[in-house]
Amino acid sequence: MIRSMNGTKRSKIEGAVEECLLPWFAKNARELPWRKNRTPYRVWVSEIMLQQTRVGTVIDYYRRWMKSFPSWRSLARAPQSDVLKAWEGLGYYSRARNLHASAKIVCDDFNLVFSSDWRNRAENFQGLETFLCSFPGIGKYTAAAIASLAFNEDAAVVDGNVIRVLSRLFAFGGDGKSTAGKKKIQAFADDLLVKGRSGEFNEAMMELGALICLPRNPNCADCPMQKVCTAFAKGAVEKYPKLKKKKKVPHIIVGAAVTVNCKGEVLVAQRKQNDMLGGLWEFPGGKLEPHETIEECIARELKEELGITVEVGEFLMTVKHAYSHFTMTMRVYFTKIISGRPRPIDCADYRWVAVPDLGTFAYSKADLRVVECLQK
Ligand code: SF4
Repeated sequence: MIRSMNGTKRSKIEGAVEECLLPWFAKNARELPWRKNRTPYRVWVSEIMLQQTRVGTVIDYYRRWMKSFPSWRSLARAPQSDVLKAWEGLGYYSRARNLHASAKIVCDDFNLVFSSDWRNRAENFQGLETFLCSFPGIGKYTAAAIASLAFNEDAAVVDGNVIRVLSRLFAFGGDGKSTAGKKKIQAFADDLLVKGRSGEFNEAMMELGALICLPRNPNCADCPMQKVCTAFAKGAVEKYPKLKKKKKVPHIIVGAAVTVNCKGEVLVAQRKQNDMLGGLWEFPGGKLEPHETIEECIARELKEELGITVEVGEFLMTVKHAYSHFTMTMRVYFTKIISGRPRPIDCADYRWVAVPDLGTFAYSKADLRVVECLQK
């Protein structure tokens, strides 16, 4: 409960949620593929795909995914290589591995394919949200989203959009991303939640943040909550939410090799399961060490990873990519083997692949750019 909040202010906002926000959402909700034919599986996949990823990017991936893996069972039975291929380019690949692992748990351990089984099973876990949190890759936010959208459980979801909307509605001056701030925002959301209509409420709040209450230049004129919005009344919309300065992320330089054999095939290596981008394929290489040239880096990495000695030849391309916690410049060179045969020493596997067949493997976005360049 929100103890410090003025009761009148709260009840006005609470009233407007039911009277204004939900009807606005009913009229203005975007048609999104995961909003049709809701099942726990379809909601689950969409929520995992939408973590850290824009709606516009997810739509095509979601449609293709549902064609390839229309059910828990089809996903559980698929080889990991097919799952990663379907996720290729979407980033944060542990999400795909966790989704795959969850499908196996749903089918093998709990036989949860039918909706009614979920509630029975959740009873042993002190509630559905706690049960959902026991699956790989499911945190509090995703559990609340799945519980409300797939099971209409009374759980309020707080994501970046909701933090912004609530900070403005209540003119909350704290940092909504700090532990204390998150608690406060969660309390606002819990208090406003329309019991029995949690899925609708959560989606309406997120939709308001995505379409109207934008980070910059919010469209207050068309906002269904304008008459109860505290930040708007104060003429101080841009002051909320309070933003912390983003930390600068480190930058690394990576050397990568396109090693070609006498048949014209290219050497690709598979990353180890527990490494970042685990299970994906790559053009072998690694991070440039201090006092090393890029050629020395590539030669060292190929020796360490595959036990081969290479001569570094012509430069192919530069790929720049930003991950959440670092940025990378990857310099790609052709190489040829001088001695040794590849062995998977510091990688999971390797293959010699004809250039037209490179697309049968799953790569990170950066390595995909190299594949595209080679296939031009
Ligand atoms: S009135 Fe403006 S600031 Fe307030 S919730 Fe609506 S869009 Fe956001």
